[in-house]
Amino acid sequence: MLLVLKPLGGRRVGLAAALLCFCLVSLSACQQPLPIPPIKSTLEGWPQPYHGLSGIRIHAFRTGAVRTPQGAAFAGGSWTSMIDMGAWAFVIEHPTAGLVVFDTGIAQRARTEPEHYVGWLGAKLGMLDVPAGAGLAEQMRAAGLDPLGVTKVVLSHLHFDHTGAIPDFPNATVIVSANEKNWVLTGLSKMDFVDVDPLMKIGQWQTIDFQNEKPLATLFAAHDLLGDGSLLAVDLSGHTPGSTGLIIKTADAPFLLTGDAAWTAQSWKWPAMPISAANMTLWWEQIWRIRKFAMLEPHLIVIPGHDDQAVEKVAVPSFIAHEPPSDDKHPQT
Ligand SMILES: [Zn+2]
Repeated sequence: MLLVLKPLGGRRVGLAAALLCFCLVSLSACQQPLPIPPIKSTLEGWPQPYHGLSGIRIHAFRTGAVRTPQGAAFAGGSWTSMIDMGAWAFVIEHPTAGLVVFDTGIAQRARTEPEHYVGWLGAKLGMLDVPAGAGLAEQMRAAGLDPLGVTKVVLSHLHFDHTGAIPDFPNATVIVSANEKNWVLTGLSKMDFVDVDPLMKIGQWQTIDFQNEKPLATLFAAHDLLGDGSLLAVDLSGHTPGSTGLIIKTADAPFLLTGDAAWTAQSWKWPAMPISAANMTLWWEQIWRIRKFAMLEPHLIVIPGHDDQAVEKVAVPSFIAHEPPSDDKHPQT
């Protein structure tokens, strides 16, 4: 089923307007500490001691990066120090279900048409760093993983840096929360960072309505994607209206891929507040739910959506971080 969307015209991000808005939001957002939400100290539906499924492997691929002043990402951050936020995509090898992708990263099109994604000024400022060959499908093939063998693509949310390679997985069902799809269908604004082009090419959608799902551990709700309890999509809404994470129960440890509910480890450990979110109060509660989960399940490995160091420091056999292609034109810092 094809998604019917309004035309993109006029909806692309204008960075100048975005930066101005970020400044204004920053001035107000960093002044408003929120109370710590009450969260139960039990892990609902989460057996302990932990036991995962053998044969699951997670491959991490860096598809590029979003380069931004720290202050344009985090409330109270410096406007003179730049940060590179790696755009990570993940491929899960499952012993019986084949390949499942979680987020597809930035499209290679961003190399030649960055203004399509971040506007004229964002392109001039080099806001996107996308090396040649960094597309998820290309990197998968180089690693011996066939994109045509991907049966499911789970999207943390619909921002362009997570949806770029969707058309490279024509045999996959694309899975997203119902709230996220409804937001894109009805609620886009000029600040949304959504590129509808890859979404228009989706052949098979599946939506998750977390309202109908049960809580898991300290999290609001979880949906068992394969029916064997090994891959669980979880409600992490707040960054966007339908943000979704993925729990993967490998034999070594449980992983929580947060998407952009947490951009980096600082997002959930400090926790460092983002400059904006669709629902900041809800974002805050989700972060504390993740914190409590990690506190009560010491084996949990949390992988944020844009954190190179968090990926690099994982040291268990079931998690493979692939060396990203480099590009002399856009050296990484
Ligand atoms: Zn992102």
